[in-house]
Amino acid sequence: MKLIIHGGFFSESSTNQETKKAKQNALSEIVTQGYDYLKTHSALETVIYTVALLENNDLFNAGIGSQIQSDGKVRLSASLMDGKTEKFSGVINVEDVKNPIEIAQHLLTYDDRVLSGDGAQSFARENGFEYFNPITNQRQLEYEAKLNQQNNKGTVGCVALDDEGNLAAATSTGGKGFEIPSRVSDSATVAGNYANKFAGISCTGVGEDITSGALAAKIVTRVTDGFTLKDASDKSFLELKAFDGFAGIIGISAAGEIYHCDSHPHMVWASFDVNLQVFK
Ligand code: ASP
Repeated sequence: MKLIIHGGFFSESSTNQETKKAKQNALSEIVTQGYDYLKTHSALETVIYTVALLENNDLFNAGIGSQIQSDGKVRLSASLMDGKTEKFSGVINVEDVKNPIEIAQHLLTYDDRVLSGDGAQSFARENGFEYFNPITNQRQLEYEAKLNQQNNKGTVGCVALDDEGNLAAATSTGGKGFEIPSRVSDSATVAGNYANKFAGISCTGVGEDITSGALAAKIVTRVTDGFTLKDASDKSFLELKAFDGFAGIIGISAAGEIYHCDSHPHMVWASFDVNLQVFK
């Protein structure tokens, strides 16, 4: 059993030490809770549970505390991939909900598994997801000061390997902050979140770069074709250099390899592997 989570990027220049420490503490607590959950649940159930915990923590740019877009609204995107069935589901730019990852979970049993905008919101309401305003005072202040364009990234993600050898990945975001309404993040695409029987990957960083690099799907495909997770990731990150791609990933392979890397400083992450817990 293995579990790894990320809390997106923080920038040294704009993140104070207190916030950095608070994020590390939160990740450490959440990865521990997630790992306990994994002892009695599948990888799929665990990534949903763990990403919902991250969405509920307003330090991160997902669910509560998400960044505000250029028109003053928060739009959430989240996706889920079950490595066992190789099914992907997600929501793109859904408004006024608390846990988009749980809507993605609900969609997993449908034929139409990725919904966006108003349609995603109607689906959520029809299925019992109540109105929730995810805007916090802090994000409102940042928005008003227009300080959040490239700062305080904090998308969240989780990859789990359960004791039956199944993998799953989940990713959730409020986007990059101050974007044009209707801009589509990588987080609810196979570039930002992918898993099969061989590996699972969750990405963070600049969505356009992650999409151009087809990052998560590419790394998983390389592992499927025989690369180690580290070699698959490193080779894919080298390819990002061609356009100075800004990205970070966390991943686990079926062989039990846990790996994380980033193109620029600093992605915050934490992992749990029986007796090992690490964070940055
Ligand atoms: N990848 C997310 C996006 O571009 C942002 C992030 O990871 O911080 O929407």
